[in-house]
Amino acid sequence: MSFWALVTDKSESGEVTSSVLEMDENSLPEGNVTVSIEWAGLNYKDGLCLTGGGGLVRNYPHVAGIDFAGSVIESSDDRYAEGDGVVLTGWRVGEARWGGYATKARVNADWLVPLPKGLSARDAMVIGTAGLTAQLAISRLEENGLKPDLGEVLVTGAGGGVGSIAVMLLANSGYDVVGLTGRTEMAEALKKLGAHTVLPRAELSEPSRRILESERWAGVIDSAGGPILGNILKQVKYGCGVASIGLAGGASWDGSVIPFILRGVSLYGIDSVMQPFSAREKAWNKLAVNFSKDLYATMVTEVGLEELSDAAQRILKGQIKGRVIVNPQAI
Ligand code: NDP
Repeated sequence: MSFWALVTDKSESGEVTSSVLEMDENSLPEGNVTVSIEWAGLNYKDGLCLTGGGGLVRNYPHVAGIDFAGSVIESSDDRYAEGDGVVLTGWRVGEARWGGYATKARVNADWLVPLPKGLSARDAMVIGTAGLTAQLAISRLEENGLKPDLGEVLVTGAGGGVGSIAVMLLANSGYDVVGLTGRTEMAEALKKLGAHTVLPRAELSEPSRRILESERWAGVIDSAGGPILGNILKQVKYGCGVASIGLAGGASWDGSVIPFILRGVSLYGIDSVMQPFSAREKAWNKLAVNFSKDLYATMVTEVGLEELSDAAQRILKGQIKGRVIVNPQAI
């Protein structure tokens, strides 16, 4: 039996390229569940894997795609049977192991989550790692006391995948959401998703010399990192917190402990890749209820395997609006 895959390879000169190839099923990695992939997603990390960036892929040829959803073809694990809907995100699938840019995948049952009631494979990939991360960040802030009546919640990288879904989920829960974006043309779309205010990225991108600034944010979901995160920490309200999820604007910043020790500000790290099954299941079940498919529809672009190389370049340049989902069957 054969399947189709976008195979990424590295030449002797170090050039990384991808092409759609028909593969023998025997080439699939070991695992106890084989899945027919109906949809995959595109994340920043996929952009890196498809272009050889970040040293994430060590072994070539490789099949990228850190997220996929579909139905079980075959399972030797009691938890899954033929026809079951499943979603997979993270676990280094698509980086260290073959991932979702193919019509089939073979994986370990421990990495799968049953598709929650009310979500199709396509819905699950509109959400993907981006939505899961947004949900994990919101839950973490709420577990630590965030409530709508505490004031404005800032979302940085608001036009991207994690940011735009975070804006919508927060607004759906009654928060006063402020989106920070580098693209003024995103303002209208972000307001439709529920952002009350949209700020230009430039307002927070220049490092501030002050140790603290006026208190403004009751909570923050930060995709940017770098100097933007450094500035934000100085503006967080007393006792409130920041969920750090990304580094679109850099990994490091010049900062001090003053926001932590004078205002009791907390910085929470969010990782979606190695979350245990119970946390994933809980987050997916929340997403099945809180994610507004119709409202988010205009933020979704569909591509086939052949179009992924171009989409990868665009996500690395921060040019993607919302989410790109991949139909591997459209060859
Ligand atoms: P996207 O590319 O979809 O979104 C990132 C957004 O960040 C862009 O759309 C842009 O939004 C903004 N941005 C781009 N460049 C800069 C810059 N120089 N400074 C500030 N903001 C910038 O990616 P994702 O939403 O999928 O991921 C966002 C970040 O989170 C990435 O760094 C990714 O690696 C990380 N991530 C981490 C996860 C985890 O488990 N912790 C899981 C998923 C992603 P705008 O134009 O609106 O400003």
